[in-house]
Amino acid sequence: MQRQPQLQQLSTNPNFDVAIIGGGATGLGVAVEAALKGYRVVLLEAQDFAKGTSSRSTKLLHGGVRYLTQGNISLIYQALHERGVLLGNAPHLAHPLSFIVPTYSWWDTTLYTLGLKIYDALAGASSLGPTHHLNSKQIQSRYTHLRARGLKGGVQYWDAQFDDARLAISLARTAHSLGAYVVNYCPVQSFNHQDGCVKGLNFQDALTQSNCTINATCVINATGVWVDDIRNMSPPNHSSLVTASQGVHVVVDRSFWPYDAALLIPKTSDGRVLFIVPWMGQVILGTTDTLQSQHLLEPQPTLEDIQFILQQVVPYLNKAPALQDIKSLWAGLRPLVQANSHPKSGATSQISREHFIGIDSSKLVTITGGKWTTYRVMAEDVLDRCTHEGLLPKPPQHKSTKDLHLIEGPSSEAPTVNRVRYAVHNEMAQSVEDVLARRSRVLFFNAGLAIELAPQVAQIMAEEGIANPRLEEFVAMAQKYTAGYLAG
Ligand SMILES: Cc1cc2nc3c(=O)[nH]c(=O)nc-3n(C[C@H](O)[C@H](O)[C@H](O)COP(=O)(O)OP(=O)(O)OC[C@H]3O[C@@H](n4cnc5c(N)ncnc54)[C@H](O)[C@@H]3O)c2cc1C
Repeated sequence: MQRQPQLQQLSTNPNFDVAIIGGGATGLGVAVEAALKGYRVVLLEAQDFAKGTSSRSTKLLHGGVRYLTQGNISLIYQALHERGVLLGNAPHLAHPLSFIVPTYSWWDTTLYTLGLKIYDALAGASSLGPTHHLNSKQIQSRYTHLRARGLKGGVQYWDAQFDDARLAISLARTAHSLGAYVVNYCPVQSFNHQDGCVKGLNFQDALTQSNCTINATCVINATGVWVDDIRNMSPPNHSSLVTASQGVHVVVDRSFWPYDAALLIPKTSDGRVLFIVPWMGQVILGTTDTLQSQHLLEPQPTLEDIQFILQQVVPYLNKAPALQDIKSLWAGLRPLVQANSHPKSGATSQISREHFIGIDSSKLVTITGGKWTTYRVMAEDVLDRCTHEGLLPKPPQHKSTKDLHLIEGPSSEAPTVNRVRYAVHNEMAQSVEDVLARRSRVLFFNAGLAIELAPQVAQIMAEEGIANPRLEEFVAMAQKYTAGYLAG
């Protein structure tokens, strides 16, 4: 998957059935789905694939235990089914993960055991293993880092874990292998209309500043928290559809929770759930939920967010991490669709399960919301909607992504030099950040190590033909993933 040859071909043959704006989970999922169905597809990403929310998740493939309390059974059922589909199609990037819920009263033990047995039953044939009650002796002997005081027992259940940014790269490569054009660093800047309908778009190659135009039968806006910026290009003055909620994670040494199972803290002081999850030899703690009026590309965790997370784990761990133990920290923005904005937007809209699909009067299609776990059904839904509304002809091929194996990348054990070369030549990495944040995940599990590795990565990239791998820019950005930055 190379960038320049695709851009050259795009300029000589710019006619497409489907043009997708945004290369996160949602847009990449649509690109795979549409290419497999035989449409001529192009996807344009303003930054790097998964630079937005899709590299900043908790990395769980899950039905969402919290939806149990809301009684949202169909949503859980669908997500648990999709969890199974992805484990089958991307076994190189996803695996089952056991979770422990500690309980401190007989009532909680009964409630969580029953609830999580229902959760497992909803998975049906995609169940990853039975839910078990653990008595206090069992939980204390297996999880000695868990605070024993007041512990009455626990519940063990199964969900799954995946590598979000690497899954995005795998989807990009899969879409490309099916004939789609998939290009990063190409922000869409404006639309072209025919009879009041969006029939094409203009974008810039951000690396050369050259401009390009594409004609498309159907344009799909899959830009996460930025969907309103795109909607306002055609025609302007839409009311806003999406607000953003920021979720923060911190990463600490594995020694604070040295187990293969994750821990679910069922109720934080603000009434949410919080996870302690083993990942890449470290442990992720998160997350938070704070409304944001700004939709920054690099949303910044505040000291308050971090202290909140650290405080929440104190009652559960014998030795809790402190600020100086943090190896990396990051924030992501959840696109939340405002329930009351649909009628005012002038869109024909439909809230489908957790995600939203809307079609503006100019026939611009917007899809947002949902979660990583359900990206594949979101893609199916939006294409079905486009054909149903006459925005696309019936699919040339009736194939399903349910059993489409996604392309594998290099082994995580590959030496650094080979890994960087592979990222440049096969995964469209254009900068040190692309390599250290999303082709390998070093920035996300150890920001200090990423800063150390950066000059070597820049040198290899330069040898492989990347004229400006933007080393200084990366180092300045990576500092913000360290606790030192927070401490000021
Ligand atoms: C803290 C947190 C934890 C989460 N944890 C989980 C989890 O454990 N499991 C799970 O299933 N889900 C999880 N989610 C949800 C999941 O991460 C999101 O639903 C998903 O990543 C959203 O993907 P997206 O493609 O819609 O948006 P994004 O990933 O933000 O992609 C949108 C893309 O559009 C691009 N773009 C913007 N403007 C333009 C333009 N003009 N031209 C071209 N491109 C443009 C952006 O650069 C961006 O890359 C979590 C979310 C958050 C915030």
